[in-house]
This record gives sequence, structure tokens and C-alpha cells, in this order.
Amino acid sequence: MRVAGIRDQYLEAMGIPVWVSRGQEQAELPGSASPDVDWDQLQAAVRDCTLCGLHRRRTQTVFGVGSHDADLLIIGEAPGAEEDRRGEPFVGRAGQLLNAMLGAIQLTRDEVYIANILKCQPPNNRDPKPEEAATCTPYLEGQMKLLRPRVILALGRIAAQLLLQSDSPIGRLRGKEFSFGEEGTPLVASYHPAYLLRSPSAKTKAWEDLLLVRQILRIQS
Ligand code: SF4
Repeated sequence: MRVAGIRDQYLEAMGIPVWVSRGQEQAELPGSASPDVDWDQLQAAVRDCTLCGLHRRRTQTVFGVGSHDADLLIIGEAPGAEEDRRGEPFVGRAGQLLNAMLGAIQLTRDEVYIANILKCQPPNNRDPKPEEAATCTPYLEGQMKLLRPRVILALGRIAAQLLLQSDSPIGRLRGKEFSFGEEGTPLVASYHPAYLLRSPSAKTKAWEDLLLVRQILRIQS
């Protein structure tokens, strides 16, 4: 079976719109949520994916890590070089800072789920192209559907703008609660840890965003 066919089969079963590479046309496939689609199947579909050009340069795909029962889903934009090498999102110094940020609201990395919009590293850490994001987003949507998080934290301008379908700067998107998707999942945007490493003065606002996440989690518990 074609790799794209495998992906489409899983995503169609989950009721997720699917991009097909044929003629670069978009096809929305019908479907309903299926209990048969699981994490392993979705991860296998990502691992074998060649639907956009980023597959040619990757060392490996970076699917996501964390608890499949997590209340908090953290979403970044794309793997960097270290993530590409290790197959895990948010590693290195930015990952260490993220771990510390989570610890500040009494959460560990193992208690949340962490993923990126793109599962393959863009060359030279450039921003994802719109067509790459559109092609890869169904995988993230699949992860959301399996996880059903209570809160989403979008880290960085790219992730926040893509998820919120906005071109506002991250400074305007952060600090407030949005409603995401059909289920109205609370979404908070904040600065990417890599940015905080370059601009430590923004950590105060990032802390405020984390407190908002914690407040939403507590209100819902
Ligand atoms: S970035 Fe996404 S769509 Fe592109 S090859 Fe990787 S997994 Fe497939």
C-alpha cells in the first residue's frame, strides 16, 4: 500500500481532512471517528510520510512525546537540528528551559504531551511554508483527536499564528485565552523557549502565560 494511502486511511477513519499529493490538489475525505485508530498507527504513518519535500532531508520524523492522558498539549512549530537528530521535540537548551517552565507550574515533561506542527525539520530552521504546514497539520489534528487535551499551549509565533489562523504578532496573541476547534479547547499562546533564551526579559510575560494555563487547568479540574 502507498505510504500516502496508509496515512489517508488512518486520518480518514478519524474524520480528519486529508491532503493528497496528486496534482497538489486538496481532497477532503469523508469519515467518522474510529476507535480503531491508535497512537502507534498514527506514528507509523508519520514515520513513513513522504508527502512534502521535507522528508528528503530528515534524519527521522519527530512525532511527539509525553503522556497519552495529558491534560496539556504543547505545540511548537517544527523540529530543529537537535530534534531531528534525537527524534524528540523541544530538546537542547530550549527543551531544558521548557522543562523548567513546566516545573514552575508543578508539571513534568512526562505529564504533558509535546508536539510540533511539522514533523520534519525545515532546512536551516527556516519557517514552515504554508503548503508544508497544510500537508502536515492532519497529523497534529490526529494527535489532538486521540489526546483530547483540556488546554493547548502554542509556543512561538508560527505555532500561534497557524493554530489561530491569525497574522497578529505573538506579543498580541499571548496573555489571553482563545477557544480552539469544534470542541472549544482553551488555547493559550506564549513565547517559544528559544526566543526566551535570546530575550530573557520576556520571561516575565511567559510566566504570566503559564499562570493562565495553570489557572485554566485548575478551573477545569
Ligand atoms: S513534514 Fe509532515 S507532511 Fe512533510 S514529509 Fe514530514 S511528516 Fe510528511
